[in-house]
Amino acid sequence: MSNYRMAEANHRIIPLEDKIFGINQKAKKMAAEEGSEKVINATIGSLLDDNGNLVILSSVVEVLKNLTSLDYAEYAPIAGTPDFIKAIKRAAFGSYVPRAYTEVVATPGGTGAIRNTIQNYSKRGDQVLTSDWYWGPYSTIAQDIERTIATFTLTDDKGKFNAVSFESKVKELLSIQDGLVVILNTPAHNPTGYSLDLEDWNNVINIIKNAVADGKKKLTLLVDVAYLDYAGDEEEYRKFFPLLEGLPENILVVVAYSLSKSYTMYGMRSGAMICMTGDKEIADEFKTVCAFSARGTWSNCNRAAMATLARIFSDEILLSKVTHERQAYCKMLVQRGKSFQKSANDVGLNMVPFDAGFFVTVRCENADAVGLELQKEGIFTVPVGKGLRVSVASISEDKCKTLPISILKTIKKVNEQ
Ligand code: PLP
Repeated sequence: MSNYRMAEANHRIIPLEDKIFGINQKAKKMAAEEGSEKVINATIGSLLDDNGNLVILSSVVEVLKNLTSLDYAEYAPIAGTPDFIKAIKRAAFGSYVPRAYTEVVATPGGTGAIRNTIQNYSKRGDQVLTSDWYWGPYSTIAQDIERTIATFTLTDDKGKFNAVSFESKVKELLSIQDGLVVILNTPAHNPTGYSLDLEDWNNVINIIKNAVADGKKKLTLLVDVAYLDYAGDEEEYRKFFPLLEGLPENILVVVAYSLSKSYTMYGMRSGAMICMTGDKEIADEFKTVCAFSARGTWSNCNRAAMATLARIFSDEILLSKVTHERQAYCKMLVQRGKSFQKSANDVGLNMVPFDAGFFVTVRCENADAVGLELQKEGIFTVPVGKGLRVSVASISEDKCKTLPISILKTIKKVNEQ
C-alpha cells in the first residue's frame, strides 16, 4: 500500500534521495567546510583528473562547437540519423564486422537501451537476471516497468566467473517464465571492475544455448558495455563479440552502447541499443518494437550528439585524435585501479576480482557502518550490499595507493568491536 498522497507507488520502492548523490553531497559539504585536502571523494561515477576536474575529451568538444544550427535544433528520426547508426556500430564493434543482422535504435545513454530491452523482451512481473553485484539503476528500471531483478553469484571461490551459479539461475528462471532477459555488464563491470574473459564467455554461451535448446523458451542477452572503451586495449576487449554470432534464433543479443564515458558526453544523453541475430525478421522486429518504446518514452534522442559521433567517424584523422586522447585517460584510469589492487593485496584487503574500469569493490561485513566510519576520516565510498564501492575514476593514483590501508583499518575497527 502506498503512503503517497497523490502519487501511485505501483509496487515500486522509491527512496527519498538517491544514495550515491546523498553521500556525494556530504563529501562536498565536508570539502567546503574543512578543505578539499581533507576529503577523498570516491563516490563519483565520472572520470576525474588528479585535480578533481571532469575529464572532457577536447577533440570531441571541438566537433560539438563546429556543428550547424540544424544539428542542434532539428528533430532526429526516432531510431537515429542514418549516419549515426553507421557510426555507432563502428564505435561499439571497432574493427570487428559482425556476421549477423545488426539493427540499431538510438537511446538516451546506455540507460535507455537497458530500459527498452527489459520492456520489450520480458513480460510484466518477470524476473530479469544479473550478477549479485550490480548497478543500482537496473533495479530502478525493472521496478519502474513492473519487473524485478534476480541475481546469480558473480565469482566463485577462485575468483573466476561463477558458471555454476549462472547456469542454475538461468534454468530456475526459465522453468517459471516463458523467456528471460540476462544482463551482463562487461568488460570493467560496475561496481567490481570484473571482466569476463573468453573462457567465461564460452561458458555463458554454452549455458544459454543449452537452456533454450528445446526451442520452447527464449532468452535475450543484454551486454552492457558502458565501460568498454576504458577497459584497456580496444581490440583485445572486443574479442568476445564474434562469439555472439551464430546463436540459435531464440537467443537475441542486444548490446547497450553509451557515449557518456566513451565520448565524455554524459550530459548529452546519447547511446544506442544494437541487436545481433542471424534472423532478419527478428532484427526487423527489434527495430519496430524498440523504436515504438522510444516514441512512447523519450521520443527521439539528442541530435547534436548523433551529429558529433557521425562527424568523428566520417574523418579518420579526427577519429584517431579522439581515440588517442581517450587512450591516454584510459591508461591513467587503468593505472589507478592496478595501484589500488596492488596496495590492497599488499595489506590483505579483500576485493572482488578486479580487471579494469571506474570502480573497485571491497568486500566487508556491515558495509553501511564501515562507510559511515570512513566518512569521519573524510573518506567517502558507496556501501553496496556486502561491500564498499570505491570509484578509482574520481581519485588520484596516490590516493589509490593509500586508501586500502585506511579502509582495512576502519573495517577492523568497526567489525572487531
Ligand atoms: N551501465 C552501467 C553499469 C553504468 O554504470 C552506466 C553509467 O553509469 C550505464 C550503463 C549507462 O549510463 P548512461 O545512461 O549515462 O549512458
